[in-house]
Amino acid sequence: MMTLPRPVDLRIDARWIVPVVPSGVLEGHALVVDAGRIVAVLPAADADAAYAPRHTLTLPSHLLIPGLINAHAHAAMSLLRGIADDVALEPWLHEHIWPRENRFVSPEFVHDGTLLACAEMVRGGITTCSDMYFFPEAAAAAYDATGLRAVLGVPILDFPTRYAADAEGYLSQGLAARDAWRHAPLLSFALAPHAPYTVCDASFTRILTYARQLDLPLETHLAETRDEVDRARGNTGVTPLARLDRLGVTGPDFIAIHCVHLDAPDIALMARHGCHAVHCPASNMKLASGIAPVAALVAAGVNVALGTDGAASNNRLDILAEMRLASLLAKVATGDAATLPAAAVLAMATINGARALGLDRVTGSLEPGKDADVVAVDLSSLAVQPVFDPVSHLVHVADRTCISDVWVRGARIMADGALTTIDESAVRARTRAWSQRLAATP
Ligand SMILES: [Zn+2]
Repeated sequence: MMTLPRPVDLRIDARWIVPVVPSGVLEGHALVVDAGRIVAVLPAADADAAYAPRHTLTLPSHLLIPGLINAHAHAAMSLLRGIADDVALEPWLHEHIWPRENRFVSPEFVHDGTLLACAEMVRGGITTCSDMYFFPEAAAAAYDATGLRAVLGVPILDFPTRYAADAEGYLSQGLAARDAWRHAPLLSFALAPHAPYTVCDASFTRILTYARQLDLPLETHLAETRDEVDRARGNTGVTPLARLDRLGVTGPDFIAIHCVHLDAPDIALMARHGCHAVHCPASNMKLASGIAPVAALVAAGVNVALGTDGAASNNRLDILAEMRLASLLAKVATGDAATLPAAAVLAMATINGARALGLDRVTGSLEPGKDADVVAVDLSSLAVQPVFDPVSHLVHVADRTCISDVWVRGARIMADGALTTIDESAVRARTRAWSQRLAATP
């Protein structure tokens, strides 16, 4: 008996498909998508018999990968890109960033800056961004309009900003934003106390209570500089991570961003509690914060994801670039060229990011049942030839100009090099207007 081919929305045949899970490179395969979900990744001949796609796309020189996950950004800070280079973290925050934020940050600033970041991230193959910034409801509108998946970290500090007056104010505003956007299928929320040095024990405890009650991830900048750790030891007698552990923060819903200056007991603690680390190599290098012990974290079994941090300390939101830096930096830091091979950093930029954000049932790999968050990378340019191993090329050779197509939940938000959901000239005009106001401020 013959079975009729099943009607589906889309079939993509690509030169190579790297699903990440399972590992390895597939050739002569097709990816089948229906109703926004991946239905199958299978040999092309089998796809002919099994599926009747309404649309087909043949990409003869392309690599298909899962959408990249930027596990840490401050998207709206793209409007501050390049405003203060060559400065260490503390003066960078106190003299350059916080004064400008105190003057300018508003729902309009956040919306326009996030849209600028979305345009850059989509062109860079990023399909999920974990964002931490003021007015998350304004960022949510930009992600929703773009069709990007986002985790919005509700920022919490113990001091006042233009967004809120105190920890309670940040929490209540952030939870109201979560409530307002609860029906958006691509958006979710996290609680984001800024850092151990800006949030007191009582606030951390309160945030933890909310996080547990509402089943939200809790993320914070942690051990970013040597100075932060030394001061914490002076004030509390323990490392910042050990302090958070005493408060009960550590666990599988805890995401520690940066983790540059963790000691061996900290790393063991991260592993024991199933905490996640987000490695931001470019930001750590640019602010001269140091080199995170990524090889040791991985060896201990800690899940390590990749982030860009904000464009004010990077100065780009480019996960492909972070992948290459992560690999090179780990090799030079350990003196071992075998450290962090290309496949491992691709996993960090995809499935590990999804695990950290609690989204691994939805995205992070090209597996049937997951949402179709997919990126096509054109490896035909002479600058990328010849191709012996497409995963090696993705990490060490390709750049954002190779990315041709991006789908999120099956929606093609970049098609053959063109953004389909963002009016780039409008974003350019808004960005120019903000840059003139920002430049006029000392
Ligand atoms: Zn950050």
